[in-house]
Amino acid sequence: MMDYLSKSIYEIHKALVNKEVTPLDLVKEALEKIKNDTNNAFEYIYEKEAIEIAKQLEKEEVEVDNPLWGIPFAIKDNFSTKGIPTTGSSKLLEGYIPTFDSEVYRRLLNKKAIPIAKTTLDELAMGGTGSSGHLGKTYNPWDESKTRMIGGSSCGSAAACASGIVPYAIGSDTGDSVRKPASYSALVGFKPTWGRISRYGLFTFAASLDTVAYFTRNVKDSALLLSVLAGHDIKDTTSSSLPIEEYKETKPYNVTIIKEIYDDLKDETIKKTFDKLIKDLKEKGYKINTMSIGFDIAKAIYSCYYIISSAESTSNNANLDGIKFGVNKEASTYEEMLFKVRTEGFSDRIRRRFVIGSISLLEENQEEIYLRALRCRRVIVDTFNKILESNDAIILPASPTIAPLFGDDVPKKSFAKDATVSDNYLAFANLGGYPSITLPLGFEKGMPFGVNLTSHHFTESKLLKMAQEVEDITGLKDLVKK
Ligand code: GLN
Repeated sequence: MMDYLSKSIYEIHKALVNKEVTPLDLVKEALEKIKNDTNNAFEYIYEKEAIEIAKQLEKEEVEVDNPLWGIPFAIKDNFSTKGIPTTGSSKLLEGYIPTFDSEVYRRLLNKKAIPIAKTTLDELAMGGTGSSGHLGKTYNPWDESKTRMIGGSSCGSAAACASGIVPYAIGSDTGDSVRKPASYSALVGFKPTWGRISRYGLFTFAASLDTVAYFTRNVKDSALLLSVLAGHDIKDTTSSSLPIEEYKETKPYNVTIIKEIYDDLKDETIKKTFDKLIKDLKEKGYKINTMSIGFDIAKAIYSCYYIISSAESTSNNANLDGIKFGVNKEASTYEEMLFKVRTEGFSDRIRRRFVIGSISLLEENQEEIYLRALRCRRVIVDTFNKILESNDAIILPASPTIAPLFGDDVPKKSFAKDATVSDNYLAFANLGGYPSITLPLGFEKGMPFGVNLTSHHFTESKLLKMAQEVEDITGLKDLVKK
C-alpha cells in the first residue's frame, strides 16, 4: 500500500509539489488506513466529504507556499465542525450537529487542508486514560497486546498520528491531555501559551486552563502549525494578537530541572535516559540548574488543578441539559428532564467531576475549597513565574512511566498523601498558561516515553528552538507504529 502519510508534513508537501502524489491519493490512503485501523480512534470519518474536497483540489494548482495544502488531518471530537456530528465522546451529545465551525478548523480548511476524521476522547475531555468516551477504549498503536493505554484525553488524535494515518492531529490540553499521550506514543505534543490560539468552537472544559494543542511527529511540523493557528480572533476575546517572533538568539540556554519531580522518578530506564540527555545538553553549552519548589507545592499542583477544573467544568457544562443540545428525554418538568438526561447521558466519571465542582462552589464551601484552590494557584504560579524568569525553560520527563495498563487508574492515586508528583505535574503549565512541549525521549519494553520542556508566556519560538535541539540530540522523530 502507498504510504505517504507516515512522512512529515514538509515531505508530503514536497511529494505533492513534485506531483508524485495527489490529494485524492492521500485521501484514499488515509481512508484505507482508517478502514484497517484497530485502535478505535474515530468518532466520524469524512468518507464522502474528503473525497469531494480532494477532487476539487485536483483541479487546482498545488500551493507551493502552503505546506498544509491537500494533506489530510484529524481533529478531536470536541471541536465544532459545521454539519458534521460532534459528540465530545459523550452519550449526552449523540446526534448533535454544530451549525458553525471552530476557528482552528476554519483556519485549516482555509489552508485547504483536508479533514479526514473526528477523533475519540475521554468524555468531554475530562480524563487521562483514553477509555472513558462513549466508544470505550482507544488503544495505543505501540502496544500490540492492546493492554496499555495511549492516555488522554486526546486519545484518538494521538493514535491517528502515531499510527501514520495523518501527519498531524488537533487536540486540546487543559491539564496535560496532549502532552501526556504524546509521551506514551512517541509524538511531539505542543500546547502553546494560553490565548495564543483561538478557542472559539472548542467545547469548554475549564476556560482558564483550556488550550488548543496538537500532535505532530517532529518539531518542525509543530512550528509550522503554530504559524497557521496562532493569532487574534475576534470571536475569542481571550486570544492574543502578539506576533510570533522569529527567534534568532544563539546564547547558551539556561534550563532547570525541578528537584521534587525529578527525585520522585522511580523508573531507572527513564531516569538514565533523561540524565543522558542532560549530559548531552551540557556538552552543547546548556547551563543546567536544579531548582526546588518544595514538596508541598509539587503535591498541590494536581489537587489545585482538579478543584479549579472541576468547578469551572460544572459551570461551563450547565448548558448540557437535553434541551439545547443532545439527547432528549420524556419529562414533565425541567428538573426531571435535567435529572434523566444528565444521569443517563454522563458516565460516572463526569458525574464525579460535577459533584466535586458543585460541592466546591457551594456558598458554604467556597472559602474552604474553591477560593483556597485559587489562592493555591497564585502561589504555584508565582513560584513557576520566578523560575521561568531566571531560566529559559524547565525540563523534566513528561511521564514517570511508559503508558500504563488499562485499569491502572490514575485518579485513585492522584490525591494520596504519597501521591506521585512526577505523574500529574504537567498541569502547572495550564495553571500558569505557559507554552509546553513533549517530545520523544526513549523506549522501554518497546514502549515510548517523552521529555517535556516548558517556558515563559509567549516564548514559543525559543521553546521550539530548544525542542529542536533536543530532537537533534535524541534523533527521535517521524516515528510511526503501524
Ligand atoms: N487528565 C487530566 C484530567 O483528567 C487532563 C485533561 C485535559 O487536559 N483535558 O483532567
